[in-house]
Amino acid sequence: QAAFRSDLARLLELVGTGKESLSFMKKRIRHLAQQWLRAARRLEQKLKGRQRDQKHILVHIGFLTEESGDVFSPRVLKGGPLGEMVQWADILAALFLLGHSLRVTVSLKELQSNLGVPPGRGNCPLTNPLPFDLIYTDYHGLQQMKQHMGLSFKKYRCRVRVIDTFGTEPAYNHEEYATLRGFRTNWGYWNLHPSQFMTMFPHTPDNSFMGFVSEELNKTERQLIKSNKVGSMAVVYGKEASIWKLQGKERFLAILNKYMEIHGTVYYETQRPPEVPAFVKNHGLLPQHEFQQLLRKAKLFIGFGFPYEGPAPLEAIANGCVFLQARFNPPHSSLNHEFFRGKPTSREVSSQHPYAEDFIGKPHVWTVDYNNSEEFEAAIKAIMRTQVDPYLPYEYTCEGMLERIHAYIQHQDFCTTTSPPPPPRAKSPAMQSPPSVLALSPNATHLVWSPSASRDPHAWPPVDSLQVWVSETRHACTETCRRHGLVCEPTFFRFLNKKEVFLQLSITCDSTEYEMNHLYPAVAENVHECYLQKEPLLFSCAGHNSKYRRLCPCRDYREGQVALCRDCV
Ligand code: UDP
Repeated sequence: QAAFRSDLARLLELVGTGKESLSFMKKRIRHLAQQWLRAARRLEQKLKGRQRDQKHILVHIGFLTEESGDVFSPRVLKGGPLGEMVQWADILAALFLLGHSLRVTVSLKELQSNLGVPPGRGNCPLTNPLPFDLIYTDYHGLQQMKQHMGLSFKKYRCRVRVIDTFGTEPAYNHEEYATLRGFRTNWGYWNLHPSQFMTMFPHTPDNSFMGFVSEELNKTERQLIKSNKVGSMAVVYGKEASIWKLQGKERFLAILNKYMEIHGTVYYETQRPPEVPAFVKNHGLLPQHEFQQLLRKAKLFIGFGFPYEGPAPLEAIANGCVFLQARFNPPHSSLNHEFFRGKPTSREVSSQHPYAEDFIGKPHVWTVDYNNSEEFEAAIKAIMRTQVDPYLPYEYTCEGMLERIHAYIQHQDFCTTTSPPPPPRAKSPAMQSPPSVLALSPNATHLVWSPSASRDPHAWPPVDSLQVWVSETRHACTETCRRHGLVCEPTFFRFLNKKEVFLQLSITCDSTEYEMNHLYPAVAENVHECYLQKEPLLFSCAGHNSKYRRLCPCRDYREGQVALCRDCV
């Protein structure tokens, strides 16, 4: 049984010393300690003493190992990326507070000794059983484990969780398919279950949404912030001088400068970075809590288009700023932008921070065309007239993150296979389908879980939240479910990957075939060809094609906690 912890001191010892990145993470854990502890008490009360298994967990932060080059640690104080460290610090705090037994490693040597690989011996199966129920790592760590565990890697990979900022879509994860169909990248093709990848934002429901936390405010702090806001103060998003090199920035900066005093937090050594115009008040890179103080005063946090999808806009919104960002038209993706090239996803990024755009929106978030001076100026004027309250979605509070990780740990199991038997090799007409568990909805537009069907009480998420919708051509299931106020749930694909489901939806199939394709189950409507999925690892919420209408498994979700359905905790 796992018992909630009431003190973070032991965790700070576990994290170790000797790297700037570790100091940053520890500072963050210390700074947010009270907030974490309060959240843990609240979740404990909510769960009312429910049985929770204590897991033995290894946290191996691969990108901080010397063996992977550790390019991040030396840049912590120089404006380098901090988002990953923010997230790892929060993951550690959450796992620890939930009462699990933790080991933390940031070198290959420590990894080997914890896994039980004798020093000097690589690539051999482990001699003893793996002493961890779960291993949280990243792509670098995954590679190191594969290299040093020999055949045991295959045996134990179901216990791994990969912290993967931008996400890995199923088409890129399946080695054979990725190779055959041009989805092979430097990172993907691990043949893991796609939910073993855990992202920074809820990018695609194919992966699990891990997230991070932002500082929360009490009532008094909120009042204080509101009364101390400087209505004409803007802070520019970005710590590195390079973001100021953006083409065309002179035009929109001149407009902004007409209305607001512009502040920056750009790293510099001795001299003001030449890229930053003289009218900008640059504070240099600030320690995290001072950066929060600056956000508390500012009215506007403005993005120049880079970095993509970091924590700072959420912190700004949580501190009562409006976040203004550029719309990307066409959207940025691995097909057209250097930054995303080689990343195992085809996701189209429609602005600097799509989560802020789609999940938060106005009045907190304004997404506009920066090339259109009128639109830009009108937005600035409107923002200056708008009063906003600090806002933080529940999923980015400490309680929200604890609740989510708790649910994953208790329910996600990739080691025991619960999937239905593999599809038949022969073409399907002769095949007998199992009895249906889906029924047409009262308004005959989609299928719902049949009220008479018995359900497996251990299935997670519970299947009664399932609704099957047919996508438009050119729509992914992610988009289809979203349009119905739902979220795509890949674990439910197995319930609708059946010939009879087409029939129930009144879809005419002249032929039905099982094939490997990340868009299946789907129908090519004009030719009445129906397709079912042959490879469960390829079930994918992401992906669309003008030829197919896809069968999409959607479910409800909790307000502010999209990873969990209403009955999921
Ligand atoms: N940050 C900071 N000092 C600053 C500016 C930002 O400590 O002067 C922190 C901020 O609080 C956030 C983290 O940097 O938590 C990462 O923010 P960002 O969104 O810039 O993502 P990154 O590109 O660093 O991953």
